[in-house]
Amino acid sequence: MTRILAALVPACLAACSAQADNGWVLRDVVLISPEREAPLAGQSVWIRDGRIEAILTADADLPTGVEIVDGAGRYLVPGLMDAHHHVSLVPGMGPAGITVAADNPDLVALYMDQQPRSLLYHGVTQILDPSPLNAWRDFEASDVRPDLFRCGEIPTPGGYPGNQQDEGAEAGLHSYELDPDEAGAAGPLVDRMVEDGAICVKLYIEDGFGAASDWPVFDAETLGEIREAAHARDLPVLAHANAIDMYQIALDAELDILAHGLWNWNWPEGDPPVVETLDRLAASGTGYMPTLMVMSGISAQLRPGSLDDPDLLPVVPSALMDFYRAGGSDFFTEELASDFPPAMPREEMADIMGFAIRRDQQATAYLHQAGHPLLLASDCPGSPNHANQPGLCTYREILLMAEAGVSPQAIFEAGTINNARRFGLDADYGTLEPGKIANLLLLEANPLEDVTAWNRIDTVILHGEAHARDSFRAAAD
Ligand SMILES: [Zn+2]
Repeated sequence: MTRILAALVPACLAACSAQADNGWVLRDVVLISPEREAPLAGQSVWIRDGRIEAILTADADLPTGVEIVDGAGRYLVPGLMDAHHHVSLVPGMGPAGITVAADNPDLVALYMDQQPRSLLYHGVTQILDPSPLNAWRDFEASDVRPDLFRCGEIPTPGGYPGNQQDEGAEAGLHSYELDPDEAGAAGPLVDRMVEDGAICVKLYIEDGFGAASDWPVFDAETLGEIREAAHARDLPVLAHANAIDMYQIALDAELDILAHGLWNWNWPEGDPPVVETLDRLAASGTGYMPTLMVMSGISAQLRPGSLDDPDLLPVVPSALMDFYRAGGSDFFTEELASDFPPAMPREEMADIMGFAIRRDQQATAYLHQAGHPLLLASDCPGSPNHANQPGLCTYREILLMAEAGVSPQAIFEAGTINNARRFGLDADYGTLEPGKIANLLLLEANPLEDVTAWNRIDTVILHGEAHARDSFRAAAD
């Protein structure tokens, strides 16, 4: 059955598009859409010119001049949006064009070719890249790819993330520098972002990783100026923060979305005010991106045998896998391990890093129980780890949210309507309603019953065009 439908859909659309100029109808599917209270069986969806033209009951008269595809036994859902994905960062290498990636241009080209396909293989039909750096135009040049949305990124002068990039290597990576001492600089800077097509502003509230806590951060006045400039142009502000004190700075500045979950609970003395901080976040309606995969990927990099994971095969070109297996990404493992006693087994280091995942899961579950709408956002690859591969990483973010106790319904909303609304994209995405862009998934199982349905994708529909999932697999050799 799976094979029949998967084979039939693309073949028909390719062969029949000339005569079927009135679009096509996917007949007799179960619709699952966040604005509906429950799945609705026996529906047909008419898709034309890349959008949903109409939703019809299965027994309604069909329009003329359409191709008909049988969807019986399948579930139709909006395509997923991962609102935190980095198109310019190569897993196991780092930013395209510098250091390790610069030494391996052929592998980077293979990765860049596979990246959009891996996202689509896992049903990610829209991504938001908060800091698109230098390679997003390459991504946009792919002929089949998820729709890409971008923030304009303002690095912190003398601070994060430039201070974590090799000396000189950051040149050309960051497009929007702000001098906090220059009065009125935020407005023209955000104007330039808007002209460049950004739909949000990304900034960093980070005073250091590990033992460091002396990196500079923007002061309250500068954060306020950036916020006002962004809001005057209808752009939300997305703030990197993952520690309690950094969260408080972001909440004081009334920034719109926290780009990471609250996993760093370090506090100088007494009980850390985790609950108070999350209550404040929920009360203010501030967006929350759990990005559970950040610490998961770092933990996986340290864990021996992480490259034996069979789920990597459909999304990693085999030559890139060979590179990892030959030790190409070991530089990052060694960098991570250097923070631990040299004699400590790597498994134990991985477990210690995993502690932060559970804290983030606790924070995420707390917000879920408080009824706060979450955002699906994986931050992949997020670090030069080889474990967080595009698409698979989004799926695993879903699994980690579910493991934390977030309901399948809330995860569904996080990956569809919540992200669409947060970034002002809900006129085009997020539900199955007439007029919306036909970026859709045909699933073999109901994702509201079990989130593993997100890995049982039959067909990916992109701007109205159907693609069998397997057509996006990485080539085996
Ligand atoms: Zn990120």
